[in-house]
Amino acid sequence: MEKQTIRDVQVQGKRVIVRVDFNVPLDRATGGVADDTRIRAALPTIHYLREQGARVVLCSHLGRPDGRVTEDLRLAPVASRLEHLLGGPVAATRECVGPEVERAVAGLKPGEVLLLENLRFHPEEEANDPAFARALAGLADLYVNDAFGTAHRAHASTAGIAAYLPAVAGFLMEKEVRFLGQALQRPERPFAAILGGAKVSDKIKLVENLLARVDTLIIGGGMANAFLKAQGLEVGVSRLEEGAVAQARAILDKARQHGLSLLLPTDGVIAERFEEGAAHKTVPASEVPVGWMILDIGPATREAFATAILGSKIVVWNGPMGVFEWPAFAEGTRAVARALAQCRGTTIVGGGETAQAVASLGLADKMTHVSTGGGAALEFLEGRELPGVAALCDK
Ligand code: ADP
Ligand code: MG
Repeated sequence: MEKQTIRDVQVQGKRVIVRVDFNVPLDRATGGVADDTRIRAALPTIHYLREQGARVVLCSHLGRPDGRVTEDLRLAPVASRLEHLLGGPVAATRECVGPEVERAVAGLKPGEVLLLENLRFHPEEEANDPAFARALAGLADLYVNDAFGTAHRAHASTAGIAAYLPAVAGFLMEKEVRFLGQALQRPERPFAAILGGAKVSDKIKLVENLLARVDTLIIGGGMANAFLKAQGLEVGVSRLEEGAVAQARAILDKARQHGLSLLLPTDGVIAERFEEGAAHKTVPASEVPVGWMILDIGPATREAFATAILGSKIVVWNGPMGVFEWPAFAEGTRAVARALAQCRGTTIVGGGETAQAVASLGLADKMTHVSTGGGAALEFLEGRELPGVAALCDK
């Protein structure tokens, strides 16, 4: 990547402030960490900095406290989970700036780790307030951003702070930018993108950016409804947004101009109601009865999509193929996840729900890369520059 990473700088003995993404789900009943994937994702950077003798100051947000101290969004449970994962002590402060924090940082020895309190207890964080950014910067000699999942936000700890300190990427940030960037900049061929999810409007920029780059565009999930309709098929009472059909028609035209192969569902699993237990059946896409809705792709589509995926050198996937949260409508998403797992090429998965689906199927480690950044991955794949990446020093 064209940005400097922690390997490019001297960290020994230095105070290093690391923006991590410890925005983990908490267990409602116990208040403990319900899923520590994001904490684990930051471990390579933390291990490296400790081994190199840096004094490590970690900072993150958690949830949406909207600028107020919120007792159940303190980072204490994260600190104890991190202690467990590191097998050593993690000091934690109940503030993220101010005298208490300055004292704690001053007391850090090389290799020691300190976790600051939730950054978003201060409204200045999301406002990207320069004084707040400078206060954070004042705690350290070097800034490392390893919070890819927050890199699409220009906040004090993700962007503003880089004005006051040398700024480099951590290993997670480096890996995310490398894999997602590889897909956009130097894809092997054939390159397939498979897109799904609920709505076309969420994905329109993504489709447009990928359209110009891929050889095969595969569209399933709720967003496929607009494309079927644009081709003159009836989709019953399927989820369909105002204006989506016109957008789909424009994309179909562009796909034709680019001469790329565009795959749409040829059959679907349909139901009469949007309910988990709704009675359902499989029909060709041309035979969706009035009053029924498409909630998943059907078996012929699953096979066609899997074949296209298996024949590709690189595949980018965002968006479930159906309402995968309900077992009766999860087969399409499962089939696509399996095909990616079997594909011999590079496989990249992005998007909050999509990553969750892959993880719940136990297939995450069969993918080349599952992005930890939901919204950030989508914005990156849309071709937008992420403020948290842009702020880092060039190589
Ligand atoms: P991601 O978070 O991976 O970017 P999205 O948020 O775009 O994915 O879409 C995920 C949602 O799309 C899921 O909650 C799923 O239930 C829904 N979905 C997929 N297919 C359909 C469909 N045919 N009808 C309604 N909702 C759908
Ligand atoms: Mg989502």
